Amino acid sequence: MEDNKVSIEFCSISQNEGFARVAVAAFVAQLDPTVEEITDVKTSVSEAVTNSIIHGYENRKEGIIKIEASITGNEITIIISDKGKGIPDIDQAMEPLYTSRPDLERSGMGFTVMETFMDDLEVSSKDGQGTRIVMKKKFNSVS
Ligand code: ATP
Ligand code: MG
Repeated sequence: MEDNKVSIEFCSISQNEGFARVAVAAFVAQLDPTVEEITDVKTSVSEAVTNSIIHGYENRKEGIIKIEASITGNEITIIISDKGKGIPDIDQAMEPLYTSRPDLERSGMGFTVMETFMDDLEVSSKDGQGTRIVMKKKFNSVS
C-alpha cells in the first residue's frame, strides 16, 4: 500500500512536457531527493511524455496523457500512459539507437535514458490501443 499518490491528465501538446517534469519533481520533493536524483526523474518523465506526444499520438493534439505517481517508503513509482497507436515490437523499440522516426531526427535513445536513470522500467503496449510505462526509483536520501 502506497504512502502517497497523485494522478494527473493533460493534453498531448509539447508545452505540457515542461508541466509534467515540474509536477512530478514537486511530488518527489517530499522524499528530500538530491539534485541529481531529481534531474534523473525529470529527464525520464520528459522522455516518456515526449514519446507519447510524438509517437503515440503522432503530434495530434486530441490525445490525453496520464501520469500516476506514488511513493512507498523511499521508492517512487511513476506510470505514464497514453491511448495512442501503441508499440508493435517492444523489444525492438527498447534497443539503443532504434527509432521508427529517423525522419524527425530522433536518436532512438529515449528508453535507454529512462533505463539508465531509473532503477526499473517496464513497457507494455497493445498495438493500436496505447502504451504504458512503469518506472521506479529508490531514493538514497531517505533511510
Ligand atoms: P529519442 O527519444 O532519442 O528522441 P525515439 O523517441 O525514437 O528517439 P525511444 O524514446 O527510445 O527513441 O523510443 C523508441 C521507439 O519506440 C520510438 O521510435 C517509437 O517507435 C516507439 N515508442 C516509444 N514510445 C512510444 C509510445 N508512447 N507510443 C508509440 N510508440 C512509442
Ligand atoms: Mg523518445
